[in-house]
Amino acid sequence: MKYPQDTVQYNLDGQAAMSAQEYQYNYDRAVEKLTSIVRGDVLLPGDAAYEVERKVWNGRFDFHPAAIVRCVDAEDVRIAVNFAREQGMTLSVRSGGHSIAGHSSNNNGLVIDLSNLKTITIDPVNHTARLGPGLTWGEVANTLQPFGLAMTAGDVASVGVGGLLLGGGIGWMVRAYGLSIDRLRSVELVTADGQLLRASADEHPELFWGLRGGGGNFGIATAFEVDLHPGGTILGGAIFYEAAEAEHILKEYARLAAAAPDELSTEAIIALAPPAPFIPPDKQGTPIVGILLCYTGDLSAGERVVAPLRQIATPIADLIAPMPYPNIFALTEIGEVTGLQHHGRSQFFETFSDEMLHTLVETTQSVMSPETMISLRVLGGAMSRVAPDATAFAHRDKQGMVLITHFAPLSVDASSLAARTQQIFQALMPYANGVYVGFVADEGEQRVCDIYPPAIYDRLVALKNQYDPTNLFGLNQNIKSSVPAILAA
Ligand SMILES: Cc1cc2nc3c(=O)[nH]c(=O)nc-3n(C[C@H](O)[C@H](O)[C@H](O)COP(=O)(O)OP(=O)(O)OC[C@H]3O[C@@H](n4cnc5c(N)ncnc54)[C@H](O)[C@@H]3O)c2cc1C
Repeated sequence: MKYPQDTVQYNLDGQAAMSAQEYQYNYDRAVEKLTSIVRGDVLLPGDAAYEVERKVWNGRFDFHPAAIVRCVDAEDVRIAVNFAREQGMTLSVRSGGHSIAGHSSNNNGLVIDLSNLKTITIDPVNHTARLGPGLTWGEVANTLQPFGLAMTAGDVASVGVGGLLLGGGIGWMVRAYGLSIDRLRSVELVTADGQLLRASADEHPELFWGLRGGGGNFGIATAFEVDLHPGGTILGGAIFYEAAEAEHILKEYARLAAAAPDELSTEAIIALAPPAPFIPPDKQGTPIVGILLCYTGDLSAGERVVAPLRQIATPIADLIAPMPYPNIFALTEIGEVTGLQHHGRSQFFETFSDEMLHTLVETTQSVMSPETMISLRVLGGAMSRVAPDATAFAHRDKQGMVLITHFAPLSVDASSLAARTQQIFQALMPYANGVYVGFVADEGEQRVCDIYPPAIYDRLVALKNQYDPTNLFGLNQNIKSSVPAILAA
């Protein structure tokens, strides 16, 4: 195997510290050693499994890493971290592989793949669980369901525990049970120096603060301990309306969803109707507004709460019904499809004002194509009642979030998808304030300041200085260490 060229070290006189042959020899020996000591697999270019495992969810990114280490336990992760650091390699950390920015792989560096770390241990008496980062949220929901328990998470079943649980976690139960990070008790973490430590309210409390929202900046999480909450049967599903009255429907949606009790979490979408059996044939391919919802709690009370959302106009389909919580993920199966190109941008809003919704509808109508999907979430509830500085997630006061996406096969012209995404994003900019780390694409360094306002950013920099001064964990929405390179090394 060819050594990664970008790891060559240079002396002050500009000469390579070692010849290419020496690098190659040393690198090959290091890979042999790595392969012999990890219990998982080391996949290299040319291996059949490498071709499968190098792929990530977002088809826009076609990376060829130098090696993929498929870890089976925390010790494998420690070994792989030490290898990446000693070889000076670019490092990607991958749990579920759903990084919108394409951070879960790279060219010519190392991928530490955690998808085999799927152990889940449930304590049904104390309502806690220990989750491996490689689990998906669909797997977590299905495993907890027989116990009548659940864990507030995202909306799409295939998203990984690892990435979402370090970023925030905004989903079907966010207003009822808060962000996923709000239910974290502890994180087991391999740090840049290869140590395995535990961060909780009592152990490394400042690190624990930063891990809840700071993404993968400080180490690799090998297990999470979480508080669970009731799951069981929810009232959930979707109502679809024709988009002719989109502005009226969205204004009513925003008003009703914000006034609803915490038990109701919702999301509205604007898209072209899919050719699904529940959409009347003459409406398929026409613009629709959907309201997706999940009510946890007493079902008859839920029927009363959701009734006004079902009566905003005449629905073309109403799929709301009691269902086991894991079934609700069927609504977002499109998000599970791997390999489509995805162009997405997101924004938080203090609130969804009439003016902002007017602009959104007007702009969306002018750029709408079969690939367009706009999602609006009314937030608040339990998520907003945690103190703003309790975790590194900054935007708890925001009442609204928009995600603008274009999903398409690779054959569709990428620049036109990106341009349409950008057009809607720009139109909404005057009303927006901040962004969620999980929904930031490859948007440049400045955008990190929109995730983390100064007071939070400064605390994260202090943690970076302490736990990763050389920025080994650099492929993420990156917090830069302020330690000079010569001192950090
Ligand atoms: C289709 C889709 C739907 C989504 N829906 C939601 C949603 O409803 N709610 C929501 O809150 N978010 C949602 N997200 C955003 C999601 O939370 C982030 O993309 C998240 O990072 C994905 O986690 P992952 O483990 O699947 O991704 P990965 O690509 O594996 O990881 C993403 C990044 O997280 C870091 N990371 C991952 N695992 C670890 C680990 N164990 N230790 C340290 N760092 C790690 C790394 O920096 C990595 O680059 C969605 C994303 C997609 C693509």
